[in-house]
Amino acid sequence: MGTVCEIVLDGDATPAIVAFDEIARIEQMLSTWRDGSELSRLNRSQSAEVSRELFAVLSDAIRSAEATGGAFNPLTGPLVELWRTREQGLVPTPEAIANILPLANLEGPRFDAGSRRVSLPAGSAFEEGGFGKGYALDRAAAVLEEAGKREFLLDFGGQLMLRSSAPIDVAIASPEHRDEPLLLLTMTSGSLSTSSGSEKTFVVDGVRFSHILDPRDGRALPSRGSVSVVSSSAFEADVLSTALYVMGPREGLAWANAHDVAAIFIVPTEAGWKFLLSDKSNTAGLAVRAAGTEFKQGEKTQ
Ligand code: ADP
Ligand code: MG
Repeated sequence: MGTVCEIVLDGDATPAIVAFDEIARIEQMLSTWRDGSELSRLNRSQSAEVSRELFAVLSDAIRSAEATGGAFNPLTGPLVELWRTREQGLVPTPEAIANILPLANLEGPRFDAGSRRVSLPAGSAFEEGGFGKGYALDRAAAVLEEAGKREFLLDFGGQLMLRSSAPIDVAIASPEHRDEPLLLLTMTSGSLSTSSGSEKTFVVDGVRFSHILDPRDGRALPSRGSVSVVSSSAFEADVLSTALYVMGPREGLAWANAHDVAAIFIVPTEAGWKFLLSDKSNTAGLAVRAAGTEFKQGEKTQ
């Protein structure tokens, strides 16, 4: 899925190897970075009988998209291609965007549960960028638990999945310098996913764009801070960090509070970074605090 996964655990390496095998299996199923994956084949044929697992993951992705009002959308494939966000990036014409946008319609795909056939409208395609790593982390954690491991840390391209008997401090990096921790939080179990507007960016005519698109209007979003989500489900953390990035701090914080989601926004201001915490990220025992510098919680209603 275009990135690296690390596994940290004590003792014999065998369970880690089994977990890597599981992630490799999911890569073969879900990765659109591989022409031979089951998902790439579905996208090419536009209609196929798929594995029980892929059927379930794609149905879950559509359900999550509906729950976020389309801010998260697993049908962003054609938009990602139009904007070339996996390459050097370009700004398409409004006409080109208007032509492609209907392909992201969440009502387009047909799911027939009896035959497990998934059918896509012509030109539409699933893209796992916003949920594949999260799904793989949930599966890898399940495999490690089946192997009897109770303590481990997985890092898949920056998204963490943790099981620990003692609380562990994890860091959220500066949206601009991934080696500079800005916030610390305490976790024992669950996943931390960050969607950042300053990674994988591209600049056109002096404007910096992120690799995250707003599927509601088909535009690449400007590079603007980051959103982190903590959840027991890595799939949910992955989906919601992307969705809340799309919504932005104002709409996103209200959505997170209405849906009891632990979210942390890092927002650029003239005076430096502002931190906005949803109610749950204040109360879930995460003890969010500054890494070094003074901590200023922004106005919660903004
Ligand atoms: P990361 O890949 O760093 O984990 P995200 O989880 O936010 O970041 O996923 C961003 C990726 O998801 C993009 O590179 C693209 O492939 C895809 N994507 C972009 N915008 C959306 C969106 N609104 N909904 C779902 N997937 C998206
Ligand atoms: Mg992600």
